[in-house]
Amino acid sequence: MEKIAENLKRVRAEISDAAEKGGRAPGDIELIAISKTHETEKVRAALDAGQQIFGESRVQEARAKIPLLPSSARWHFVGRLQKNKVRHALPLFELFHSIDSIELAREMDRIAGEEGLRVRVLLEVNVAGEGSKIGFAPDSLRTQMESLLELPRLTIEGLMTIPPLAPEAEASRRYFIALRELRDQFAAQFQVNLPQLSMGMSGDFALAIEEGATLVRVGTAIFGKRTPARLVSENAAE
Ligand SMILES: *Cc1c(COP(=O)(O)O)cnc(C)c1O
Repeated sequence: MEKIAENLKRVRAEISDAAEKGGRAPGDIELIAISKTHETEKVRAALDAGQQIFGESRVQEARAKIPLLPSSARWHFVGRLQKNKVRHALPLFELFHSIDSIELAREMDRIAGEEGLRVRVLLEVNVAGEGSKIGFAPDSLRTQMESLLELPRLTIEGLMTIPPLAPEAEASRRYFIALRELRDQFAAQFQVNLPQLSMGMSGDFALAIEEGATLVRVGTAIFGKRTPARLVSENAAE
């Protein structure tokens, strides 16, 4: 658990360095500690070390975990949200990073209406095209943006992406640039404020910050490796 405090310190230092390199204020970058598959004791250690925001990617796991932790912990959802899990998910998370279809956005808006909630979301974009099928294709998002912006219960705060897996972190850079440019285009074209760019994971968050990330999603570099066995059983449980 001491390791977690150490890891956090190192990650925070790397965030500051990258911000400086990119000519940005470190305070403009929020670290989301991705705690999926990790036990509550590890989350508690990170909280004790000053980390406030955590990210989960499965509603079932989050529903079990969140009540066991102090209410000072804040939670973001970063996984694929199934429509039948929306009602459970809405009250648990302050930001949803990964809205990947208009159908999901409409369902979230509908249920938020029923529950009297407002929902902060990011739109997940597949900037790489081939290879990854998760997220909006940029062109298709452009045609759906007006409809998305009209959903009264959703506040669209920006864009998110997961670049294709690559051996070299530097390979991610062009996707981070593409996401930022797309955000700039959309903000101008639709006259909206899209301040958030969620991009960068353990292997490439420094590059993402240089290219404008405001939210970095870092799991392994803080909590260590995730155990595949647990991943499998949790998938099966859902
Ligand atoms: C698991 C996950 C992360 C964290 O990945 P690491 O490589 O462990 O830092 C970030 N973003 C999303 C969407 C994830 O599912």
